[in-house]
Amino acid sequence: GEALAVSARVAPLGSRLVLLLVEDLTEARRIEAVRRDFVANVSHELKTPVGALSLLSEAVMDAADDPEAVTRFAGRMQIEATRLTNLVQELIDLSRVQNDHPLEDAEPVRVQELVAEAIDRSRHTATTKNITMAAGGASDLRVWGHRGQLAAALGNLVENAVNYSPAHTRVGIAARRVTAPGGDLIEIAVTDQGIGIPDKDKERIFERFYRVDPARSRATGGTGLGLAIVKHVVASHGGEVTVWSTEGQGSTFTLRLPEAAAGRDRTRDGRGTS
Ligand code: ADP
Repeated sequence: GEALAVSARVAPLGSRLVLLLVEDLTEARRIEAVRRDFVANVSHELKTPVGALSLLSEAVMDAADDPEAVTRFAGRMQIEATRLTNLVQELIDLSRVQNDHPLEDAEPVRVQELVAEAIDRSRHTATTKNITMAAGGASDLRVWGHRGQLAAALGNLVENAVNYSPAHTRVGIAARRVTAPGGDLIEIAVTDQGIGIPDKDKERIFERFYRVDPARSRATGGTGLGLAIVKHVVASHGGEVTVWSTEGQGSTFTLRLPEAAAGRDRTRDGRGTS
């Protein structure tokens, strides 16, 4: 509609310029639509726990003479408050990974530390569900990047592996070096024996707020932002993330990141970090 009208107005300038203008407009409009969707999604996601908190606080007041009910409602208020806190924290994380230039603060980061931190972050849930977390292969590997962002990326993958797995299963984290034409890469694979991801959703799970099963995601305190954060971190580090999954059997998410090669510490940032 509008894009065509523009092309008619500038037609005398030459068809190549017209084509560029039209493409620019289409892209600008697409970005605007994505931004509008995002704001609408954020509003909706914020309203849900806030609405629940409001209803629950009314219920508490009405139940003032029933201590058991008060305790029950207060417990649910706590769950909603946690949900709200998680969402705000993930929004802050997402905006940080979208706006920062991680490689300005890049340094060699030991994979072992990232793995240990990720396991720590999910330990509570894993213990509750009797899920075993096992790591291997990371001993002396180092990746080149922003420590906090890399920790957030791996932490999210391990958290998902635990959240989307039944009790008494195993989550494995395996790291190795792979040779690649542009310099060696570090591969970190997180494997679970969980519910898996249907083929039709595999592309979309990296979109902000996309969930295969929204009710299930909310039940585990999920925000729908974790994999969007992972995708951004990996992209800004010049790496990639891939997913392999069979429904009902499990999933493997694999990060590929640039290795912090010996000697690179000084050459890259000119400061000398180790
Ligand atoms: P959430 O906060 O909902 O976990 P994510 O962005 O981390 O959001 O993941 C998006 C969706 O991808 C999840 O809601 C879930 O449906 C699916 N998903 C992510 N990781 C896994 C996994 N390891 N196993 C099964 N499904 C997963």
